[in-house]
Amino acid sequence: MLIGAEWISEGTGGRYDHVNPATGKVQRSIALAGPSEIDRAVAAARTAFPKWKALPSNQRRDIMLRIAELLRRDTDELAGIATLENGAPSTFTPILAGELPAEYFTYYGGWVDKLCGEAIPVYPMQALDYTIPEPYGVVAVIIPWNGPLTSIGQKVAAALAAGNCVVLKPSELAPFTSLRFAELCLEAGLPPGVLNVVPGGPKGGEALVSHPGVDKISFTGGGATATKVLQGAAKSLTPVILELGGKSANLVFEDADLDKAVAMAVQTSVATLSGQGCVLPTRLIVQDSVYDEVIEQVVDLTESLTVGDPWDPATVVGPVVSAHHCSRIEGVIARARQEGAGELLTGGERVGGELSGGYYLQPTIFGDVDNRSHLAQEEIFGPVLSVLRFRNEDEAVSLANDTKYGLGAFVHTTNLTTAHNVVRRLDAGYIGVNGFALMPPNAPFGGVKQSGYGREGGSDGIREFVQSKNVYIDLES
Ligand code: NAD
Repeated sequence: MLIGAEWISEGTGGRYDHVNPATGKVQRSIALAGPSEIDRAVAAARTAFPKWKALPSNQRRDIMLRIAELLRRDTDELAGIATLENGAPSTFTPILAGELPAEYFTYYGGWVDKLCGEAIPVYPMQALDYTIPEPYGVVAVIIPWNGPLTSIGQKVAAALAAGNCVVLKPSELAPFTSLRFAELCLEAGLPPGVLNVVPGGPKGGEALVSHPGVDKISFTGGGATATKVLQGAAKSLTPVILELGGKSANLVFEDADLDKAVAMAVQTSVATLSGQGCVLPTRLIVQDSVYDEVIEQVVDLTESLTVGDPWDPATVVGPVVSAHHCSRIEGVIARARQEGAGELLTGGERVGGELSGGYYLQPTIFGDVDNRSHLAQEEIFGPVLSVLRFRNEDEAVSLANDTKYGLGAFVHTTNLTTAHNVVRRLDAGYIGVNGFALMPPNAPFGGVKQSGYGREGGSDGIREFVQSKNVYIDLES
């Protein structure tokens, strides 16, 4: 753990044996933060805050840009650590663990000397009224294991750029990239205490969200955990940003470029991160007239994907993150089969042979899925795709919106009118038409409904970390 300037290798949260998902073998025992380390980390952040807030904006900007430079310099190393900690394929981790976070630090570094208030023509008196965007103070950042450095780019870069100090709690399932990131921040000249990193599980998380010294919480994770975060935050009325799960619909209309739609549907549902991504389109909803053609292509393409060791450059689908996660997904598949939620078209089994030590699952497709089933309604966070059919635009929109989630939605059509109409009717914070962009730093990202609230990225993302102070100066003599 990094608390202030001090590296600590024991914690009151106990220890955790971190298992490599590709092999199922323990690769490192780590210390977990408990209430006492959280207390110290919050105190270190509080102490560092006044100076960090007062640092001239060009100096704060330059530190942010140096962090970005070091993320680029060490992308290969960070990517390797990322593959070891969560099993993501080594062909993908350079983007998630190096290039994308570096872009976030560059983008938000550029905001530091441009974050302005406004002058307001108040009335009825002669007066000068203006606003100052003020940082909150200490921000608690709690992140999941599926893309820790991308989450750090989204949250920590924006919070620091706005002048806050941060206590970052990565998941015990993927703590290593966050710790290496902390070393890079110190090397970049970030003053000690501005960023503190306290890996931990629920115990550390609970202590952090209920700590009275925390001024804002930015949380990414599952809905059940988010409820506990809100309960903890309620004790001190601490404001919270929630980035939660999803069950994104992917609508394919009969006039779509079907080859492109199928390639995207398969890649982003069962291949990318083995389906362990919040916004990934895990419900493919296809117009009746092209359903059979699409299903055939989807199954063929899925069966051609190489499942394997994440270090092998030929691997497209790596392991899922843990034994617990793997058996939970197997349970969802078994339940779907038992309930007849849909027709299992391919996959459905754990991969054996040379890969039996790790947590590998076959990419799995269910066809003609009932949208009210558990399979179609719950976030699985694994390589499982549900395919459904629709007859017309109204039915497509109604199926897409028939979920408690509202993170992403996707539309494939070559008809501009259909595209615009459907986009307006979909309940989602992010919508991709005929494609998918991997969270560009200058565009807002976040959910509606039970996918959360608050936005990351773009100007919305930095505004989450400031509060307007209004100043009124009476000019009447
Ligand atoms: P999780 O909810 O189990 O854990 C998230 C984080 O919360 C971890 O750091 C965990 O240690 C911590 N935590 C656990 N109990 C806590 C408590 N009582 N108080 C405070 N913190 C606590 O989620 P996960 O399994 O790590 O991640 C998967 C989930 O994250 C999925 O639902 C996924 O959709 C979501 N996710 C969302 C986004 C997004 O941007 N919307 C991005 C990535 C992942």
